[in-house]
Amino acid sequence: MDAIYARQSVDKKDSISIDTQIELCKKECAIPEVIEIYADKGYSGSNLKRPEFQRLLDDVKAGKITRIITYRLDRISRSVLDFGNLMVLFEQHGVSFNSTMEKFDTSTPIGRAMLSITMVFAQLERETIQQRIRDNYYARGEKGMFLGGPAPFGFIKVEAHSELGKLKMLEENPGTIGILKQLYQMYGNEMMTLGEIARNLNEESVPSPNGTIWDSCKVSRILRNPVAVKADIDVFHYYQERGVKFTNEPVEFTLDKGCYLYGKRESNERKYTDVKDHILSLAPHEGVIEPDLFLRVQRRLDENKQIDNRRKSQITWLTGLIKCGKCGYSAIPKSSCNGKYTYIYCTGKTSYSCCDIDGNLGALNAVEAVIEDRIIKWAKQYSDIKAEITVSDNRERNRLQCRIEELNQEIQKSVAALIQASEVSAKYINERIEELDRECKMLVAELNNHTESNHGETLNKEISDLPGAWSSLSVQQKNSIASLLISRINLLKNEIEIEWSYDFDIQ
Ligand SMILES: [Zn+2]
Repeated sequence: MDAIYARQSVDKKDSISIDTQIELCKKECAIPEVIEIYADKGYSGSNLKRPEFQRLLDDVKAGKITRIITYRLDRISRSVLDFGNLMVLFEQHGVSFNSTMEKFDTSTPIGRAMLSITMVFAQLERETIQQRIRDNYYARGEKGMFLGGPAPFGFIKVEAHSELGKLKMLEENPGTIGILKQLYQMYGNEMMTLGEIARNLNEESVPSPNGTIWDSCKVSRILRNPVAVKADIDVFHYYQERGVKFTNEPVEFTLDKGCYLYGKRESNERKYTDVKDHILSLAPHEGVIEPDLFLRVQRRLDENKQIDNRRKSQITWLTGLIKCGKCGYSAIPKSSCNGKYTYIYCTGKTSYSCCDIDGNLGALNAVEAVIEDRIIKWAKQYSDIKAEITVSDNRERNRLQCRIEELNQEIQKSVAALIQASEVSAKYINERIEELDRECKMLVAELNNHTESNHGETLNKEISDLPGAWSSLSVQQKNSIASLLISRINLLKNEIEIEWSYDFDIQ
């Protein structure tokens, strides 16, 4: 029987409702009628003390469940350790695990490796994001401020006054706002391609944002910007699912205001396509594009990107990650005329002629070898850290076992003393035995805990196995893992700079 597990905590208003989670999970079921639903409302994912979750575990142990479906991994648990233990338990009872958001298939080794990496990141992410959200940069004081740069297409900048003092805000540009609405129409309703739209605009001599000719990249960038949308809760959810952080509460998304989307890396072409950890704020100006049209456009662009990625992934697993170190545009591999060597070129130079870098950025083989080496080092380093934790855990277990032995001996001595004791001293000896027994039971429980938590090692083994398994992975599998670990690779001739997703101390 399939089981659906949904969870929502009380403290987070921005999380997806239990009903929506269940609906999304049902889509994964072959026979949606034959399922059991477990839903914990108002429980946090930091521990497993949740009534419905415990009922699910009981049913797993009773062999009633063959598959567990959940909306996201963190619905099950927010702790890497708990998660590891659960995966072991699921495996023991032949239960497969399915997450609709992350698209994991735990029946394959690669699926399990990605699962472990994701969980490691989840923990790191929670620690770092919480800190970052508290940072001044993202404080609510920034709310409503236009963060500089030229006005987006369809808008002009005007000066406004607020309690924060003078600030720039946006207003519709009467000359171009009509064209902006037309772009959404053409792509979202008339199903024209980006290229067709660009050709259309050029034929009608519509001026582009920077005066040069229109291309599909420019059109896509404009459509990606949520500055013109009438932001409602669906728009909120769309960005939430992509890892965007918000400076407004969900209840403020009332279908009138436009949005600012900003991130760590300004003015690069991934600004709107990879929005993880970017910040979305409601803007003071009114939106003009209906949310359902806006979202239809976003989903079509998402699909485009996926098809694009799949096509490109065939050539190298570095797809989507390599950038020109000079201009920041994507870098792509191209084979030499005789097809013997493949070099990486800057698209800023080849497609947009906005980069003056000389020749190529490096040989694909050489760059792949360097990055591969660094990823394998990461996996080894991660395993070493885990091994250290295991050693200290073993010491703690040993300490507990010694103390339990000590207590047992003391209990035996006391029992022996009892035989010769008077009535009065027997009372005290009995009390002492009870006390020792209590401590002993407590330590035994603690010891069992330690033994159980060690099962988490099975998952970590998948990461330790990565160095050996790497060469046998497909290009797509390598790309999936590299994309998890690395946010960007800057290439200059003979220089490779890796921006890791997290600050690992990799030498
Ligand atoms: Zn360049």
